[in-house]
Amino acid sequence: MVYLDNNATTPLDPAVIDKMTWFLKEHFGNPSSLYPIGRQVKEMINEAREHVAIALGANKSEIYFTGSGTESDNQAILGVLDAVPDKREFVTSAIEHPAVQETALYLEKKGYKITYVPVDRDGLIDLDVLRDAVTPQTALISIMFASNEIGTIQPIEEVVRIAQDKGVLVHTDAVQAFGKIDFRIERLGVDLLSVSSHKIYGPKGVGALFVRKGTALLPFLHGGHQERGLRPGTENSIGIVGFGEAARILPEKFEADQARIRHLADRLKRGIETKIPKVHLNGHPERRIKSTLNYSFLGLEAEAVLLSLATKEIYVSTGSACSSESEDVSHVLLAIGLRPEIARSTVRMSLGRFNTDQDIDIVLKELPDIVEKLRRISAFHPEDD
Ligand code: PLP
Repeated sequence: MVYLDNNATTPLDPAVIDKMTWFLKEHFGNPSSLYPIGRQVKEMINEAREHVAIALGANKSEIYFTGSGTESDNQAILGVLDAVPDKREFVTSAIEHPAVQETALYLEKKGYKITYVPVDRDGLIDLDVLRDAVTPQTALISIMFASNEIGTIQPIEEVVRIAQDKGVLVHTDAVQAFGKIDFRIERLGVDLLSVSSHKIYGPKGVGALFVRKGTALLPFLHGGHQERGLRPGTENSIGIVGFGEAARILPEKFEADQARIRHLADRLKRGIETKIPKVHLNGHPERRIKSTLNYSFLGLEAEAVLLSLATKEIYVSTGSACSSESEDVSHVLLAIGLRPEIARSTVRMSLGRFNTDQDIDIVLKELPDIVEKLRRISAFHPEDD
């Protein structure tokens, strides 16, 4: 199998599997219990918190575990807006993940004024529009760090500068940036930041939210005192411990992982662009996470490419995994100006820690043939367009 869908989810790192297996066998206590078998689990949750904090460049008291990246995004946005009920404006971008985009739509229905900052053809937000959109009524700006679909990296430091000038809080969805971009929250300057375990070789169903000390935030779940009252409910201790292990090994592996992934992605990119006519790479040419290759194969339906590759046990995605079940064309691809038929021809390949040169050899052997055959059936002639 060649797995090229690491932006959808990553396989567990063997070190994470070992840690979780050990934990499952040895520890079942409720972290809120005061006797040793509970206290030990609580300590392990706090160790995991420390690992996530170190990997992010934050203080561990500023990290809260949640049930997913989606929950972190919802908690950040709804939690800030609930804390400042007199401010009724929210600024975000046109290319957010549904976890932010749908939250914005929910707020719109509740009467909030939402500004969706547009992006250029490379997927970069328009900072002038952002600047003009922020008013004294703005409660929060939420701009994603790196795009799950096209890989473009947003100028978050610039966003923070604009926000600070106007005294507005900034949240960033860093789910795809964590583990792929070398950033430290302390330097980035954001007030809230979301991450998710299953994008960094940890288990699914666990995420974290960074909340800068002193940021006013209300919980949207109500219950016990877990996660200092921000996220009540008995902790997903097994998931958190796995996430902690994934975060612990992340900095150790970062440089080598990135160098290898860059090499593989360069090979794949060069191979596709020399062997296949009429392909177009989406996303910023430079400011991008190099592991994400989003290509439009003119004249084809992406789904046909995906299914043909799957018969060869090569797994990729059309647009974004999160929208793969919907009929809609990706809002991100439309936002960067692609025509719907071009957007529908778009395939995302995303590399990760466990890809090898052999994977790239296999893809470069199979993909050109598949594209050629499908184009022949669809009567597409590369010289036509
Ligand atoms: N934000 C981005 C940019 C993502 O890519 C994803 C997952 O694909 C999420 C949020 C949601 O994370 P989770 O799957 O943990 O809910």
